[in-house]
Amino acid sequence: MSAITTIRPALVGKLNERQVLRILQSHGPLSRAEVARESGLSPPTISKAVAALLKVGLLEEADAPETARGRPAPKLRLASTSSQVLGVAIDGGHCEIVSAGLDGEPHADLATVPTPANYPELLDALEAKARAMMTRSGVTTLGLGVSLPGLVDYRKGCGVLSPNVPMTNSRRPAADLAERLGVECILLQESHALCLAERQYGLARGLDDFAMLDIGTGVGLGAMSSGRLLTGHSGLAGEIGHLTAVAEGGRLCGCGNRGCLETVASDSALAQRASEKLGRRVDVDEVIDLATTGRVDLRAELQEAVRYLAVGVAAVINLFNPSTLFIHSRLFEIEAGLFDVVVRSAGARSLPPSFADCRIVRAKGSKRQGAVAGIIQHLTNAVALDVI
Ligand SMILES: [Zn+2]
Repeated sequence: MSAITTIRPALVGKLNERQVLRILQSHGPLSRAEVARESGLSPPTISKAVAALLKVGLLEEADAPETARGRPAPKLRLASTSSQVLGVAIDGGHCEIVSAGLDGEPHADLATVPTPANYPELLDALEAKARAMMTRSGVTTLGLGVSLPGLVDYRKGCGVLSPNVPMTNSRRPAADLAERLGVECILLQESHALCLAERQYGLARGLDDFAMLDIGTGVGLGAMSSGRLLTGHSGLAGEIGHLTAVAEGGRLCGCGNRGCLETVASDSALAQRASEKLGRRVDVDEVIDLATTGRVDLRAELQEAVRYLAVGVAAVINLFNPSTLFIHSRLFEIEAGLFDVVVRSAGARSLPPSFADCRIVRAKGSKRQGAVAGIIQHLTNAVALDVI
């Protein structure tokens, strides 16, 4: 049976504990003496902080291997074998759930469920998968992060408007899962989750000014400026997918308008074009499979999608002047050369000095990883991000 502990973030809101966590997060495993040296705090202060962190399960001790000079002092590290967190990514087609150590390293137990038709069934499905992961023997589950598409109100902790998963509108999936599972749960907007994943574990480590263009069921944007996510007044910023890209005769968007960028430059837009061509409904997984195996010629549809994607890329470069623009998209799985087409086309549409200042790269992180990063940040309170 697994133990279930609810951590009050206030418990680790204390400066000394936070500093110990921050040092171990950036340096990896260290002995108490090494932590004391890095922090400049006294050994008794460190011992006290470490004892508190061991007690709540955020840290664990690992014996260092014995050497000819005897057994060195045990190393402290973020709990990776005795504690875990869970990350959930909710999306229109399917939801993913994964467990990971407090070091963010995911376990090999990724679970996927087709997104159910209504909210109670969604909660049931996520609860069942989470409970299965929480039964790991000797491992305490400390919390769960939820990545949600669409608009998220961080003050209320609820979905506001999700054109692609409308069942979550006005719902509080993190609070509802916390009640069912008895662990701390937090909610993140999915583009913010991707930014966190990339900054904690991916290619944006150490970057304070970058943007993330997320091409999935919709088109989302996360912009980090001076180390802070730009969220707008209520956390609703970044909805680039609903920028009008086709002014006349555009397709109907999930938001109710016509011709939005995500009606022409998203996975679902490509799937819709492919469905029309094939005369039957196909989802993006099938489209990628059909196109990569050469069974269907979707070159014209792909060219159209990437042309509009470049419009979005140029808009982000001109608006935010990011040092790096990450693009998270499965479209590049179909044909690696498509990425270069996007970069070239965006170059032609951006202001030259802004384009010259920006590196465009494919994102490495995932939303489930971002959900994991979000809950770890929440529990350790180690990095100040306004939205978490
Ligand atoms: Zn729209």
